[in-house]
Amino acid sequence: MDPVTKALNELHRRISGLTDGEVASYIPKLAQADPDDFGIAITSMGGRRYQAGKADTEFTIQSVSKPFVYALALTDLGPDEMLRRVGAEPSGEAFNAISLEPVTGRPANPMVNAGAIATTALVAAADPEARSARILDCLSAFAGRRLGYDEEVYASEAASGDRNRALAYLMRSAGSLTDDAYAVTATYFRQCSVLVTAADLAVMAATLANGGRNPVTGERVVERSVAVRTLAVMATCGMYDGAGEWLLNVGLPAKSGVAGGLIAASPGRFGVAVYSPPLDREGNSVRGVAALTAMSERLTLHLMHAPVHLTATVTDTGHGARSSRTRSPEQTALLNRSRQRIIAVGAQGELEFTETEQLLGAVEGAVPATPGWLVLDLMAVTGIRPGSAAMLAAGLADIAQRGHRIVVAAQEPFLAAADGHPDWQAFTSRDDAVAWCEDRLLAGEAPLAPSAPSAPS
Ligand code: GLN
Repeated sequence: MDPVTKALNELHRRISGLTDGEVASYIPKLAQADPDDFGIAITSMGGRRYQAGKADTEFTIQSVSKPFVYALALTDLGPDEMLRRVGAEPSGEAFNAISLEPVTGRPANPMVNAGAIATTALVAAADPEARSARILDCLSAFAGRRLGYDEEVYASEAASGDRNRALAYLMRSAGSLTDDAYAVTATYFRQCSVLVTAADLAVMAATLANGGRNPVTGERVVERSVAVRTLAVMATCGMYDGAGEWLLNVGLPAKSGVAGGLIAASPGRFGVAVYSPPLDREGNSVRGVAALTAMSERLTLHLMHAPVHLTATVTDTGHGARSSRTRSPEQTALLNRSRQRIIAVGAQGELEFTETEQLLGAVEGAVPATPGWLVLDLMAVTGIRPGSAAMLAAGLADIAQRGHRIVVAAQEPFLAAADGHPDWQAFTSRDDAVAWCEDRLLAGEAPLAPSAPSAPS
């Protein structure tokens, strides 16, 4: 058995014994859920899926639909208009609270019912059927399979959903909802009645953790920026009036639902979901909270942990770098006497702020006082963030100012960056880069040609 499944089984076994909490009963049909049902599932960024217990048992998604419908509305409206219509403040209140801002009537929190109903109304569509269809398509794309409805739960909630209708009417009177209140809540009940499994929810959470691309199907479901904002709202608002304590203890964006579903996303790592119907006083799955708390501790998932830098960035700093070119004895002697003049610094991996700052520090420490040729070997660099590229360019410009010639060796895709720096010499191999410097040195050239006098006007 693979180690992830083994760990999930172990976690499942340990937490099964927890029998606190109550199955929700305010939607009559939900009261029939089996309190012993318990499943956990994980989907990795590589699209691999792991599960333990009843991870293939279907249940209604309920409030776990909220972040995904938020992502859909956000895609339709853009960030500014979305925020104008629905806030992003943890209300610290129960899921069915009258959570509207005093003056504007704008719902404060998109992850509790008032804000979620307003969000559903923002999904662009010609009529309620089309809106429900778009929402189902969206949830299905996140899950990577065609999802359906639990008609009985839908009917049960529609028959008992007056509080949600009341919230919608309140928002209409406050001006924050313009659609028909009855129709919008029906659409909202439809969205809550979509059937999922813990395994589905893990893929949905993994899609957010993966920047909006479903890691199983490969489909880009939402833009990266939409995934980031959705995760941010989950982090601050996802756990009702338990949101603050959740961020403190678990430290992951998450969302729970009244049927017992709970998702969490560890950005860049995996999506995880738990299904277990008994809920705590805040309305969050008891076993879900326990499982995620244990997992976060065990795997150090808390968002506020400083990222670990697994590999060294700087691979070498060498004076007297030499190419494989054949040189005459005189040339070899000259190159040997000029060891200080050609310097190579190598780097590997991803260049983010910390790595770039490290690399520039190493370059600073390696360049001599007298002008020479600096070969920056980026052949083993796999990615440079735009901000880091600008930082690197600024650091190198500073070194060039002091009379050094910048010679870059990098893979084709990164060489495009050198185009913006006509004073950099760029090569696709370190050996060619060093050989070019040797040729200049042997020809008696200065590292930097004195800048050409500007043409007389
Ligand atoms: N459909 C449920 C409701 O609106 C969803 C609430 C929840 O999951 N917390 O009452």
